[in-house]
Amino acid sequence: AEAGAPLLQADGVSIQFGGLKALTDFNLSVRQGDLQGLIGPNGAGKSTAFNVLTGVYQPTQGEVRVGGQRVNGWLPHQINHLGLARTFQNIRLFRALTALDNVKVACRAQGALHPEGVGLGAKMKGAFINYRDWWRALLLTPRFQQEERELTQQAEHLLEVMGLSHRRDEEARNLPYGEQRRLEIARALGTQPKVLLLDEPAAGMNTREKADLMVLIRKLRDDFKLGVLVIEHDMKLVMGICECITVLDHGETIARGAPAQVRSDRKVIEAYLGD
Ligand code: ADP
Ligand code: MG
Repeated sequence: AEAGAPLLQADGVSIQFGGLKALTDFNLSVRQGDLQGLIGPNGAGKSTAFNVLTGVYQPTQGEVRVGGQRVNGWLPHQINHLGLARTFQNIRLFRALTALDNVKVACRAQGALHPEGVGLGAKMKGAFINYRDWWRALLLTPRFQQEERELTQQAEHLLEVMGLSHRRDEEARNLPYGEQRRLEIARALGTQPKVLLLDEPAAGMNTREKADLMVLIRKLRDDFKLGVLVIEHDMKLVMGICECITVLDHGETIARGAPAQVRSDRKVIEAYLGD
């Protein structure tokens, strides 16, 4: 993509669940270096917007583009391969895997070695008695082992970035809640995204943890050269770090702009008063 071209774009996106208009004529454009906020009262359609952008739901109307590519009808993992990663409002980790393996799985999903790629292709397969021996041979190849080491290093780096090195070998389910949330971000980064969508990453954290996380998100944006879109229920928190904020209410975009502008918007104040 050319410099400054939108990495993620929604164009007139609407989605309806039965009679409920969860999102109406939603427009959005995220570029590299952006740190945008998506806010609104409970049930406003924020998570739905993420689900439509990432292929979990199909829009009833409108278009989603990732890296300029129209992705309507694509599956979530296909969209992820184009450089869009996300976290969920409800934590979705592999609970019985270690912190390290949770991240490695994501790294692996992006750059998996194929048997063909290590010279154990169709012809070689005939030389093995069965499939299992073929795979065993694959695991012993220097290239596979080299890749394994690289994946581990990559995952270790992401754990370090997210302040989780001390949890490397602990099962995800045993981590404190705030650390599980950070592990989700580490895993999302493992797929090497260009755009990162964070759905209430600070939910359930205390004030201090929340503030620290917001600073960290800004650092991720810079260090990984991302475009970031973050959903956060707490208006003050988002306003502290985001340059542009979109406000949803009942699926409609009621305001968009700089924090100061959004904060004093009458429609926004009314929407939050009613919450
Ligand atoms: P937010 O994340 O802003 O709190 P959501 O996007 O989760 O809000 O929900 C917006 C509205 O869409 C809510 O009324 C919710 O009940 C409804 N909704 C979300 N997902 C579904 C679904 N899969 N089926 C039916 N209704 C849904
Ligand atoms: Mg939500």
